[in-house]
Amino acid sequence: MMTITYAANKGIYVNMTNRCPCACTFCLRQNKDYVFDSDSLWLDREPTVQEVCDSIDTWDLTIYDEIIFCGYGEPTERLYDILEVAKYIKSKSNIRIRINTNGLADLIWNKSTAPDLKGIIDEVSISLNATNKEDYLEVVKPKFGIESYDAMLKFTKECTQYVSSVMMTVVDTVTSKEDQEKCREICESVGATFRVRPYSK
Ligand code: SF4
Repeated sequence: MMTITYAANKGIYVNMTNRCPCACTFCLRQNKDYVFDSDSLWLDREPTVQEVCDSIDTWDLTIYDEIIFCGYGEPTERLYDILEVAKYIKSKSNIRIRINTNGLADLIWNKSTAPDLKGIIDEVSISLNATNKEDYLEVVKPKFGIESYDAMLKFTKECTQYVSSVMMTVVDTVTSKEDQEKCREICESVGATFRVRPYSK
């Protein structure tokens, strides 16, 4: 059976796709197939919107703090399916809804996507992980090439207009303390909140 949703840290995580335009050097997918206590997050096929809603319905949302679109792939590969699921969640619950993303949705969809999140997504958490476009290319290896870093920053800045909470993160083992401070400045310059997150093995 596929793991579409799983619980961890007072949140319900939603795993809708294994697609991703990147190949980050620190990607968990390279050395294991689960997160926290989940079963394998490799999907036999992508679940339909209805299957995701049905899976969410199996949880008592009153005892969790948030629902996070995350999983083993880049969630915004299915951005418009996520928004359908999020609308369904909003129709039945006030639970907070977050997307964890690499921030490349505009390149995936070839348009400005942040406005589409308005009123549906409560928080976006974007991986920053580098202080400049060259280092980003080396660490994240996006298929879109050198323009990816600026596109990610633009998406982040636009999200701050449409989403109430916008975070940027770096993985502690991937960046030096000095780079983390530079990342903090970059993050604040686009209006997001900065967080250093531990690498989960
Ligand atoms: S963006 Fe996320 S899923 Fe994609 S390679 Fe990087 S860490 Fe892995």
